[in-house]
Amino acid sequence: MTGTSDRGRKPPLVVGVDVGGTKIAAAVVDAAGQMHGRVQVPTDVRGAEATLESIAEAVLRALSAADVARDGVLAAGLGIPGKVDPEAGIGILSVNLGWRDVPVKAFLEARLGLPCALENDVKAATLGEGRFGAGRGMRNFIYLSVGTGIAAGLILDGRLYRGSTGMAGEVGHAIIDPQGPRCKCGARGCLEAVASGPAIAAQATEALRTSRPTLLRDLAAGSDGQVTAEQVFAAARQGDLVAREVVDEAGTYLGLAISQLIMAFDPQRIVLGGGVAQGGDLLLQAIHRELRRQATESFVFREMYKPEAVQLTALGTDVGILGAAALVMPAEGGP
Ligand SMILES: [Zn+2]
Repeated sequence: MTGTSDRGRKPPLVVGVDVGGTKIAAAVVDAAGQMHGRVQVPTDVRGAEATLESIAEAVLRALSAADVARDGVLAAGLGIPGKVDPEAGIGILSVNLGWRDVPVKAFLEARLGLPCALENDVKAATLGEGRFGAGRGMRNFIYLSVGTGIAAGLILDGRLYRGSTGMAGEVGHAIIDPQGPRCKCGARGCLEAVASGPAIAAQATEALRTSRPTLLRDLAAGSDGQVTAEQVFAAARQGDLVAREVVDEAGTYLGLAISQLIMAFDPQRIVLGGGVAQGGDLLLQAIHRELRRQATESFVFREMYKPEAVQLTALGTDVGILGAAALVMPAEGGP
């Protein structure tokens, strides 16, 4: 990997850690975005210290799996679900992890003997997409994560935009249907309440109350009358009409939200990631159908909408690890 012109200088390696509510994924990552020694450990959520210990374990296991010594990496970056203070290195609030004001950076640096940096997981994924993925080289770019929750990361004029309270991009709780279902945040008809994974599952489960024939009925019978978003996408791919309607509706709402992001920020590209986006083509088709409808009607939107600018992430589920790595990877061409 090291060219002769580098005079033996080691290529920069860092550890990227994607911290989730149920599992922690980590890998050693090089400057080209290649992962080495990818590992996964369960998240211990019995307390903040237990969770930090499982993060430390993930880092050590990744180093061991990649056969890299601790002093062979520059730092560890962490993507955390929830609100963080990257400067102070504190996890301010995470519902998934049960955290409030946890000194993440101080604990892990003492435990691991490595510089550590943390960022909100969606903001980290945005940086990862910008460094290694579909946002590479773009000064204006939006990453929209659609999974259990929905949030956007904004790269504006070449920098991650945080807003005045650090919460810029919380579009999951922007209201998209004032008459819609109640969201867990308290409001009615948030984007997250109509287009997230749990919302898709809830709408499909609701559709089972009718007498319409659907593959979902058999799937639900095996799991207490509940269906998952993955099952809805699988049934839709098999041509199930009820499942298709549910996917189309979620896609229409996402299309509305994406058109608002396009109007507000005029990005070069919008990349969709997260567990629901992995559901893939049918959802993307429904999103594009809504965007085309608006472009047909509005000459203003027609000016701003380029179909190829809205696409799925090419980094798949690894965007979390790569984003966390991007937090601590030295700038390209830098020392
Ligand atoms: Zn909400």
